[in-house]
Amino acid sequence: MRPDQPQPQPGQSPEQASEHSDNRRPGDHMTAAEFRAAGHAAVDWIADYLSTLEQRPVLSTVEPGAIAAQLPAHPPQRGEPFSAMLADLERVVMPGITHWQHPSFFAYFNSNASGPSILGELLSAGIGVQGMLWATSPACTEVETVMMDWLLELLGLPDIFRSTGPGGGVIQDTASSATLCAILAARERATGWQTDRTGVDRALCVYASDQTHSSIEKAVRIAGLGKDQLRAVASDARGALDPTALAAAIAADRAAGRTPCAVIATVGTTSSHAIDPLRAVGEICRSEGVWLHVDGAHAGTAAVCPEYRWIHDGLELADSYCTNPHKWMFTNFDCDAFWVRDRAALVRTLSVLPEYLRNAATASGEVIDYRDWHIPLGRRFRALKLWFVMRHYGVEGLRRHIGQHIALAQRFAEWVAAHDAFELAVPAPLNLVCFRHVGGDAVNQRIVETLNASGALYLTHTKIAGRYTLRLCVGGTYTEARHVEAAWQAITAAAAG
Ligand SMILES: *Cc1c(COP(=O)(O)O)cnc(C)c1O
Repeated sequence: MRPDQPQPQPGQSPEQASEHSDNRRPGDHMTAAEFRAAGHAAVDWIADYLSTLEQRPVLSTVEPGAIAAQLPAHPPQRGEPFSAMLADLERVVMPGITHWQHPSFFAYFNSNASGPSILGELLSAGIGVQGMLWATSPACTEVETVMMDWLLELLGLPDIFRSTGPGGGVIQDTASSATLCAILAARERATGWQTDRTGVDRALCVYASDQTHSSIEKAVRIAGLGKDQLRAVASDARGALDPTALAAAIAADRAAGRTPCAVIATVGTTSSHAIDPLRAVGEICRSEGVWLHVDGAHAGTAAVCPEYRWIHDGLELADSYCTNPHKWMFTNFDCDAFWVRDRAALVRTLSVLPEYLRNAATASGEVIDYRDWHIPLGRRFRALKLWFVMRHYGVEGLRRHIGQHIALAQRFAEWVAAHDAFELAVPAPLNLVCFRHVGGDAVNQRIVETLNASGALYLTHTKIAGRYTLRLCVGGTYTEARHVEAAWQAITAAAAG
């Protein structure tokens, strides 16, 4: 943005002085005054959007290519006014948007957002720092370190992950990236940190349940291990990893001369919210010297409420853990919180220091350089939105909202259980309900398709024990009891119709 020039006259604001100072040409940088006006319009647009979401169909139903066809084939020769862009947001973009913040969005897991988070994101963009090193903006690093300790306390996570000891936390873009970093560190630890080595040890093995998220296989493959080095360990009827099967798989690999290197356990599987028995799994990992990474991408947020902290029982046995405030904790995508027990292991795995990044603070060893804690070099000031969210809601507010989501889902589960034609596919411990009509796969598929085409709500499905199963997740910032009640009415009506 162009600074305001020339100096204002008495009684004139800098912006007024600037507006009249010269002839503005298309393509000039925005002045502060222009930015302010456009910014106010953009914030107004967002406030209107969020407060009228219910008038829009939840799910976009455009055909492939329909949005692209609305866009000019070439970039404009002359710069355009901001008002033209804002108008096209409604005209061109909105038809192709599935409204993730809609209160009747019950699909997948949520990716919820909130006022303080949106504003934190905006201010982060406004400051525009690149926080790769402590030295490139000390506040970007130090606010993040403290926020990760705050979040640890908010979720009641074990102190082994606190930054004041050998562990610590970092904000990553996604759980996928966090898991990749954990697997890379596990791989290096298991093979003695031979960073000059070429090729990957073919004897290494990674274990996860057959219900694990697809990002685990992706991370294993990116880490250079073959798919044949990933063991899909059997899960029980509920979808939770079976520790006996895990111990047997590790023993079989040891007997064959292979090297077990990492176990990925899940708190709240994506399909059915199963919770792996962390304590039993952790004890196996401890005695085998295997890195345990715990993926609590969605369900981890439940632990803001002390009564749900049992989901993390045994987490103190883990080497690393991640959860996504960008799913359920009112924090805009992207924001994954990743903690490690031994930050030295992570830094040793990922640090490469070229001459042009050398600086006195790094050399002193007294600061954190977060570039060594993840894959990219560059990093945004994501801690700002997390700070704003925790300050706006407070521990009390977060407990109230998360507790309410779980209570609404539990109420929905009771309606399902009490209905003759519907059943719970598995117990619903938190805010995800997996259920089905007793009439079979075709009936359930028809219910989902009818409801999603109606625009009134959005549900997705999974398969549990081979059967088509409906999923309803309550985690929207604006979702109230009336939306869940309306969903249940629509579901039973679709089943009858
Ligand atoms: C959503 C999810 C992921 C992936 O999250 P990203 O942050 O999008 O990578 C991983 N694991 C589980 C259990 C999830 O629910």
